[in-house]
Amino acid sequence: MVLSYSARLIDALRAAGLKLTPQRLAVVEALQGDQSHPTALELHERLRARFPMMSVGTIYNTLDALTRIGGCRELQMGGSTRFDPNVDRHDHAVCERCGSIRDVARSPGGPEPGCELAGFQVEHVERIYRGICASCGGAS
Ligand SMILES: [Zn+2]
Ligand SMILES: [Zn+2]
Repeated sequence: MVLSYSARLIDALRAAGLKLTPQRLAVVEALQGDQSHPTALELHERLRARFPMMSVGTIYNTLDALTRIGGCRELQMGGSTRFDPNVDRHDHAVCERCGSIRDVARSPGGPEPGCELAGFQVEHVERIYRGICASCGGAS
């Protein structure tokens, strides 16, 4: 799903007191097309060729504004914060060898957000499948 959230992003950045700069738009674009669930530092690494002056702080505050308007999701995985442009309900498969993370469709069944589980109100459901990816010799 490709989101066109420029107008909402402008609002979000304004609300956060940030200016809509070419750098911030580049962060949005880079994340939109990325299925690797990059960290802020990985995005910074990638964008530095085009924007040598870009600071990591710019990446962080842009991602933060995006997250707040629901333009991306934050994932805590392997001790780092990753960003996911896919905000549809889905699960993740993580390779134990190379650490790659890919999206997998949510399989039906199991608790859903909004249901009650053992006296606990479920708000988010995150499922992580761990295994070996195709390029590391797992199932293709
Ligand atoms: Zn792998
Ligand atoms: Zn994902």
